[in-house]
Amino acid sequence: MTAIAPVPAARTFVIVSLGCAKNTVDSEAMEQLLLASGHVRASDRGSADVLIVNTCGFIESAKQESIDTLLQLGASKRHDQRLIATGCLVERYPTELADELPQIDAFLGARNWASLPKVLSALEEARAPGSSLPLVELAPDGALDLAIATRRASGPSAYVKISDGCDQRCAFCAIPFMKGNHRSKLAALVLREVGQLVEHGVREIVLVGQDTTRYGHDLGQRDGLARLLERMTDAFPSLPWIRVMYAYPRHITEDFLRVMREREQVVPYIDMPLQHTHPWTLARMRRPHRDTDDLVAWMRDRVPGLVLRTTFIVGFPGETDAEFAYLLDSVQRLRFDRVGVFCYSHEEGTAAFAHADDVSAKEKARRRSRVMAAARDITVASNRAMVGKELDVLIEGRPEAGSAWYAGRSSRDAPEVDGLVLVKADELPVGEIVRVRVERALAYDLLARPV
Ligand code: SF4
Repeated sequence: MTAIAPVPAARTFVIVSLGCAKNTVDSEAMEQLLLASGHVRASDRGSADVLIVNTCGFIESAKQESIDTLLQLGASKRHDQRLIATGCLVERYPTELADELPQIDAFLGARNWASLPKVLSALEEARAPGSSLPLVELAPDGALDLAIATRRASGPSAYVKISDGCDQRCAFCAIPFMKGNHRSKLAALVLREVGQLVEHGVREIVLVGQDTTRYGHDLGQRDGLARLLERMTDAFPSLPWIRVMYAYPRHITEDFLRVMREREQVVPYIDMPLQHTHPWTLARMRRPHRDTDDLVAWMRDRVPGLVLRTTFIVGFPGETDAEFAYLLDSVQRLRFDRVGVFCYSHEEGTAAFAHADDVSAKEKARRRSRVMAAARDITVASNRAMVGKELDVLIEGRPEAGSAWYAGRSSRDAPEVDGLVLVKADELPVGEIVRVRVERALAYDLLARPV
């Protein structure tokens, strides 16, 4: 990790975090580093000395959102405010951004966010006459900041990044260019973060990484994720829920599923992006094309009551009507509990970019709607089956002030991407798990009362 440089003056800052949960973890870590360096959180963007945008560069819509945010902040910033762009978009297009966005004072890559205090110091020095901006700081090849010294909870649930980068080279994905190869965070560092969060009252730890099921491979471990989960549950017996996101199909092992089955704290929920089910499409995507039916049956057999979340891409180059129909049929047949669907985004630098983006935008949107509709029907049916049943729900707060409801989640739902359980009650302990009975099912959410 980069050493923290002395800071000439405390500055107020705001961090705008875009993109996925992994970026959220990095943004939280940046905030803690800046606070530890003597800087202060500003109450709003207008009053901040420094504006930091943690960008996303994954697909077209995410890139556009990042650029729009930078343009908007660049246009409205005061002459004495500093604007820093960091994250994946910077890692992917450092030169283009520096050329096209002169309003930005400093660029910092996604792999070396721990250098942020140093960049702030350099920006201070650059206020002197004759200094030139922007500053551009990218990590040397192979470097990747993973250690986070201090974690603070912002609610009863917290993400913990156990690895970053990816060894796979899926044909549509630009992430390995931005994040590099897979790197695991040492178990001692993961446990230190989890310990700090548990001390702050966190009741759910959500493990994230580009490929969590590859955890420990680069450290010479076999079944590293299973071992990590065992250590975590042993070290924190009072932590009720540990959830695993972003599992790669080929890296799910018998031992990982055994730990999930035997350790009650590891919730029986897996987020496993499959991207497609047709073997030819998967082959073109450079993804494992082990029979999806077999894989899902094997996982459900090993973990009774398993809740399976997945994501798909529609409109990949060459996706025929027959391949799409096969995917749609799989969604209906395999009855995934939670499904997300993305339209294929033609990203330069990826292997798929060499092929024609031959499914029209209209057709991609139509295919996406059809998969979403099929998945929604399954979610509605599985929610209806919950009516009359009891559930443990982590209470996260009132959805809005004065509401008669509390919003919470059962272990069947991951934060941000899945549904809620809305519990009607006068008073419930926020941040605690309470027992409820489900009274009604909506499309994605459940309505319940405390038992
Ligand atoms: S496994 Fe995920 S992060 Fe890695 S290349 Fe494939 S899609 Fe991208």
